[in-house]
Amino acid sequence: RRKKIVEQCERLMDNPEQIRNIAIAAHVDHGKTTLTDNLLAGAGMISDETAGQQLAMDTEEDEQERGITIDAANVSMTHEYEGDDHLVNLIDTPGHVDFGGDVTRAMRAVDGALVVVDAVEGAMPQTETVVRQALREGVKPALFINKVDRLISELQEGPEEMQQRLLDVIEDVNELIRGMTEDMDDIDDWTVSVEDGTVAFGSALYKWGVSMPSMQATGIDFGDIIDLERADKRQELHERTPLSDVVLDMVAEHFPDPFDAQPRRIPTIWRGDADSDLAHDMRDVDPDGEVVLMVTDIGIDPHAGEIAAGRVFSGTIEKGQDLYVSGTAGTNRVQSVGIYMGGEREEVEKVPAGNIAAVTGLKDAIAGSTVSSVEMTPFESIEHISEPVITKSVEAQNMDDLPKLIETLQQVAKEDPTIRIEINEDTGEHLISGQGELHLEVITQRIERNQGIPVNTGEPIVVYREAPTTESREVEGRSPNNHNRFYITVEPLSEEIVDLIQLGDVSMDMPEQERREALQEAGMDKDTSQNIETIHKTNIFVDDTKGIQHLNETMELVNEGLTEALDDGPLAAEPVQGALIRLHDARLHEDAIHRGPAQVIPAVRQAVHNALIDAEIRLLEPIQDVRIDVPTEHMGAASGEIQGRRGRVDDMYQEGDLMVVEGIAPVDEMIGFSSDIRSATEGRASWNTENAGFRVLSDNLQPEIINEIRERKGMKTELPEAINYF
Ligand code: GDP
Repeated sequence: RRKKIVEQCERLMDNPEQIRNIAIAAHVDHGKTTLTDNLLAGAGMISDETAGQQLAMDTEEDEQERGITIDAANVSMTHEYEGDDHLVNLIDTPGHVDFGGDVTRAMRAVDGALVVVDAVEGAMPQTETVVRQALREGVKPALFINKVDRLISELQEGPEEMQQRLLDVIEDVNELIRGMTEDMDDIDDWTVSVEDGTVAFGSALYKWGVSMPSMQATGIDFGDIIDLERADKRQELHERTPLSDVVLDMVAEHFPDPFDAQPRRIPTIWRGDADSDLAHDMRDVDPDGEVVLMVTDIGIDPHAGEIAAGRVFSGTIEKGQDLYVSGTAGTNRVQSVGIYMGGEREEVEKVPAGNIAAVTGLKDAIAGSTVSSVEMTPFESIEHISEPVITKSVEAQNMDDLPKLIETLQQVAKEDPTIRIEINEDTGEHLISGQGELHLEVITQRIERNQGIPVNTGEPIVVYREAPTTESREVEGRSPNNHNRFYITVEPLSEEIVDLIQLGDVSMDMPEQERREALQEAGMDKDTSQNIETIHKTNIFVDDTKGIQHLNETMELVNEGLTEALDDGPLAAEPVQGALIRLHDARLHEDAIHRGPAQVIPAVRQAVHNALIDAEIRLLEPIQDVRIDVPTEHMGAASGEIQGRRGRVDDMYQEGDLMVVEGIAPVDEMIGFSSDIRSATEGRASWNTENAGFRVLSDNLQPEIINEIRERKGMKTELPEAINYF
């Protein structure tokens, strides 16, 4: 049977009209895994009885244990709709907010996102995040409202109440969609509605579902559903209106095929020359064009080694091809190509444009790489909604494990680009940085359990930022030989501009004219926007000088000095954020020998640091949105847990039988939150956090935290004298 399905998939791969590349996006626990099992069972890939228990997508051991999905896995299935077979390639996205980067990557490879919302809980913060990620990548949404059985059997709702609740969920989701797509001129009305058939609802647990078309086809209405559920005749509901058919029909009917999607999406996700042959190959989904694969995920197979999975945008991938990997020199040879069926990979002859492929042999590829048969502009660097905000040291308990540990850490960084690794071979104490405490915990557990390397880990350490708060005076930086001088000022960038840079809406990769317009729209004056020399993380370097001899040939060194100054800020050697650095004037020695790296780099570095200090630089700390769901009697304890952590409670309201407490708190104070909230609420609270950027640390805490960091980093603990404004 499996072999037959693979053969069927292989035939369908050549017909883009019959392909749908989709992701399921949901808040944790809303039923993504259960729904996926339904779809697999409906497609005959797992037995109907085991659907819901098998958790076919959660292949990693720790995922099954924790009951949350961590790695994006991929699966293909077939579905007959209106007489035609369809190939549905489903990419799994992680549900926990700590894994935001994986979600974005998965979205880039698909054209449709099935948004799953629990009918009882409604849209949650993570629903908002995933819908936003989908829309930003030009991925079309459809909605499945799950756990409707609970409205009937637990909440005893009648038809009107039920209908109202479903409409509320739909409206919440539509509000998000409208807000995000209003300004996108390449997207029509993408709001979802029951009438259009872009909304379905049902029960993944009891395997039934309905949509407007299915109700019309089967004659089943709300009253029937309520009667059958109440009478415990769910099996009958499943037989009359199986969830997998309803959802897969919706997928086939409403999600774009690659022919529809690629012409619209390529300009948003690829910044290369729109008139080039390559652009045509991709827009046309041309199987005979150049090979272009965007890697979304790297998996490890104990036998085959690394497997790069991703979307083939043009050409046809086959064994033996030598393909370029973005960001590396030279090519890798394809060892095998395959598709995913459940948790397993099936080798096939070739995978043409429009499909999701699993490729071995691409040893230099990482998640996010562009792999192609010609050298090309890579896909826009994949946006990460959150930068790492927390760091932990790991060290092997046995020195013999050291090489294996280093190898594993490098592997982890390859699989998950939101993780940063710093290897320190001298001390053996390596650093991993990630999105939150849980994120790092999962990684260390994998090292210990999957690799069998016992490790010691340090206390989690928060990553801070340094940012100017006012405009500096002009500062002179002199080279050690006194022959070169740089005149620099620093001022804060507006929050709006910092956001644009972080979202990738302003970058050095985009056409210059577009960048100027975006910045001017955000309030930057024309001259400044035209004089931008580089963008370094969230900082902008502007060259206001004119006609200075030798400056062009020295610019590379100026940039190096700038990078050093910004990577390690003057307060505590944390990264600088949101600074506009302006070069007003420079004196350079005639002779290149006297303006080498040893002269220029320290001069620029010093000037930037002094200007930052004059601009009253402050430490910023990362903060998180916190949401806690608790029974009423524990509400006080829950809000106390936020307030006691230098946090702020913004809202408290009833939802179903629970109270919801929403607020915000610094990441530093959130360490240890999970065990504290458990004991404060007798384990009755469920909660989640989401990174919410950085905010200025209050002045009375600045000296103390700065000193702590300096001490930890082995820097001099007394601050430079100029920093006396605390
Ligand atoms: P995920 O975290 O989104 O993958 O959610 P799961 O599929 O693991 O489901 C979370 C929990 O909700 C599990 O205990 C499921 O059995 C339960 N669940 C899923 N779908 C339904 C449903 O339609 N009705 C009810 N009553 N429970 C459901």
